[in-house]
Amino acid sequence: MERIVWSDTAAEPAVETEVYKGECQTSVAVIGGGYAGLSAALHLAESGTDCLLLEAQAFGAGASGRNNGQVIPGLKYGPDDLETRYGDAGAVVAQTAAGTADLVFDLIAKHAIDCEPDRRGWVRAAHSPVALPAIEKQAAQWERRGAPVELLDRNQTESLLGTSNYIGGMIDRRAGRLHPLSYCRGLARAAKAAGAKLHQHSPVRAMTREGGRWRLDTDGGTVRADKVILATGAYHENLIPGWSTTFMTVQAMQIASEPLTANIARSILPGVSAMSDTRKLANAIRMDTAGRLAITGRGPLSGKIDNRIRGDLIRAITRLFPAVEGQTWSHIWAGRIGITIDELPRLAAPRPACLAIVGFNGRGVAMATALGKAAADHSIGREAGFPVVDAPTIPFHSLRRPALATAISYYRMRDALGFAGR
Ligand SMILES: Cc1cc2nc3c(=O)[nH]c(=O)nc-3n(C[C@H](O)[C@H](O)[C@H](O)COP(=O)(O)OP(=O)(O)OC[C@H]3O[C@@H](n4cnc5c(N)ncnc54)[C@H](O)[C@@H]3O)c2cc1C
Repeated sequence: MERIVWSDTAAEPAVETEVYKGECQTSVAVIGGGYAGLSAALHLAESGTDCLLLEAQAFGAGASGRNNGQVIPGLKYGPDDLETRYGDAGAVVAQTAAGTADLVFDLIAKHAIDCEPDRRGWVRAAHSPVALPAIEKQAAQWERRGAPVELLDRNQTESLLGTSNYIGGMIDRRAGRLHPLSYCRGLARAAKAAGAKLHQHSPVRAMTREGGRWRLDTDGGTVRADKVILATGAYHENLIPGWSTTFMTVQAMQIASEPLTANIARSILPGVSAMSDTRKLANAIRMDTAGRLAITGRGPLSGKIDNRIRGDLIRAITRLFPAVEGQTWSHIWAGRIGITIDELPRLAAPRPACLAIVGFNGRGVAMATALGKAAADHSIGREAGFPVVDAPTIPFHSLRRPALATAISYYRMRDALGFAGR
């Protein structure tokens, strides 16, 4: 059965809200209470804009309460590549991407969010020589712009990570880690304090255009809004027909240990906040302040907890850190990740007066916060730091399950052969 370590260890209390009932009007309605939606609501409220957020379950019920808490700036491409891909908007996108971790840690400081922030950097470790050129390319692009990103040789990688399994890598010292659910709840607390109207356990059942405005129906009432921000991430069902075909949903699975003894805990990632490696089905690894170890890897296509994959994750982490042999893995859970074909997120306008955000490709802690803010800024006519882009339908989307199974087998083979994921 699923047991999420962050739900058991969050220092930030759950924010109390009422189930939405009745009728009201608002300038901007936000749908979804993860990082993207809560960041949008916080920034709207701080600008003095009337806004109301509806969350189907509790804040952080989606990926924002289930992730590995790695705060990684940038996107999966280096800044030069972003400039090429986004054309006229490229310089602004590269600048926004560079600043996403700053945005998160600044919000934590500004709102005193009790979420174990730790900013000693993130290592991207190469699991084979074939994986190194992609890392070198990205590190060089950031270094040329003066970002605190450095290449690491085998020995430096080993001393930062506490494992000799990698042949090199890069460190990004802008990055860090946090407690994912506490961060999410802290954003909700800040948004509420700033004046956003927040409602949990209030799923939006239908979204219709009526008299030039949006009408959102919940089980208990109706909201009429001039504009809507759809921040349902990979947990989107079918509010906007066709939107789900612009991304694919994959499952990631995570396990966490009981607190390790101080000696073992000190030996794992002694010099950094977090790491991931170049396998396409990447391992993402971090400790928490109590000495628990949490590792993310590929999840079952069905989303159901799977003992075989649990065994794979335990074997993978024990291979990297033999000292954890025999530890108790007390928590196991899965979560959805929204994937786009080009591995870039979308801030799109699928309908009039409606912005939608999705596609963080497993890197949404910092970027979802940033795109939530960008959606808020677009909604009130401010310079947003990220363009509204097209979200093309993925060809043959209905075949995605079998296609994903094939893709996963393919990437496992590539991992084994040493090729790099971005
Ligand atoms: C296991 C795992 C590990 C990860 N690790 C990392 C990591 O270390 N670093 C990193 O940067 N990223 C990581 N990610 C990705 C990151 O968690 C996500 O990109 C990010 O949380 C997305 O935030 P979001 O606000 O877009 O979506 P979500 O947090 O998924 O929020 C969407 C919300 O919309 C709500 N919703 C859906 N439909 C409706 C409706 N009809 N009405 C009202 N509400 C609705 C859902 O209940 C949900 O709460 C990981 C993801 C997973 C699953």
